[in-house]
Amino acid sequence: MTTAHDHRRLGRELGLFDTDPLIGTGLPYWLPDGAAVRHTLEEYIRAAERRAGYQHVYSPVLGKRELYEISGHWAHYSDDMFPPMDLGGEQVVLRPSLCPHHAVIYRSRSHSYRELPLRMAELGGMYRSELSGVLGGLTRVRAIQLNDAHIFCTLDQVADEAEAALEMIRRAYGALGITPARYRLSLPGPGGKYVAAPEKWRRSTSLLAGILDRSGLPYEAVEGEAAFYGPKIDVQVTDGAGRESTLSTVQVDFHQPERFDLHYIGADGARHRPVMVHRSIIGSVERAVAHLIEEHGGAFPAWLAPTQLVILPISDTELPNAMDLARRCARLGLRARIAGPDRGSLGGRVREARLVPYQAVIGAKEAAGGHVALRLRDGRRLDPMPVGDALTGISALVEAHSTDLWADPAPQQAS
Ligand SMILES: [Zn+2]
Repeated sequence: MTTAHDHRRLGRELGLFDTDPLIGTGLPYWLPDGAAVRHTLEEYIRAAERRAGYQHVYSPVLGKRELYEISGHWAHYSDDMFPPMDLGGEQVVLRPSLCPHHAVIYRSRSHSYRELPLRMAELGGMYRSELSGVLGGLTRVRAIQLNDAHIFCTLDQVADEAEAALEMIRRAYGALGITPARYRLSLPGPGGKYVAAPEKWRRSTSLLAGILDRSGLPYEAVEGEAAFYGPKIDVQVTDGAGRESTLSTVQVDFHQPERFDLHYIGADGARHRPVMVHRSIIGSVERAVAHLIEEHGGAFPAWLAPTQLVILPISDTELPNAMDLARRCARLGLRARIAGPDRGSLGGRVREARLVPYQAVIGAKEAAGGHVALRLRDGRRLDPMPVGDALTGISALVEAHSTDLWADPAPQQAS
């Protein structure tokens, strides 16, 4: 990995996030530009989930120790959990995952088979007691915002739901400009702390292998990477140094529905046990943004960029036009800022904004005609066009979550 693409260095340089020893290691905070990227990413995920029939919930980041004793986290995962807090005779812990809360939310209402598959999603906080030695940037953090969902369904519905989740992952990677390194079928390994239920492991493993086989995606089965309660499909990405990490997962779980005694009323009027499919499209927001920073070297797809349009009036005379354009961008929900002549020469301002997808130059001629001369981040320069046309073109690509900078093969000059 070149140091230029180290997300920790770029994150600070671009003013996306930072850390402070007084807040603590592994506890980064997000600066306004980083928060803009994160918010946009979270909204993309929520909208994709709404379209795919998910319902969003909120649940607290704390839970009683008993909740994790039931889920099995206490027995199998407590090394990664923060120590419990004593509170009026009870022990409360920072949650290590969202699954137990969602299982309890499911259980709080009775469900008919007609409601299944019931898809419950949350972008929620969870906590991991990483040792300080492995902390750095956004990849190993103690406070995690997870894009999580649990699908409660019948055994017959598992394959379709898992396939639909893989399709959501594929589409999201397209919009984000991410290429998966490989798909991994993560199985238990010798010596790990796993729930002992051989028949359930066998069934969920064969289900996931079947889904991967039908999808035609190349994958490798790897031992020792399963969750403690079941096997999973992991979508792996690599950073510039070739280090591999998991962004997205799809898991089939027969264990927690039993531990929480979940059921639905079948067509026969009897109680049946649902299966839980755990799935995450982008994994933790922290790791996803770290990967996006490194993948793009800070040059995010236009829809995700903290500043989408930088407005460059050539002289103070065009400042009113620049301010008018900035107002029009704001009304359209585009993130724009003005870099005026007080910031230096036009060439210097263009160089300073090299990661911004669109640079809108306004000189005397453009100002007089209500035009703007767009320069694209990739070096293309478009002929001056009416401001409205430029904004329509940019908005369409942003709304489509496209990775293209310009759709119309407008007349161009060499840059
Ligand atoms: Zn889960």
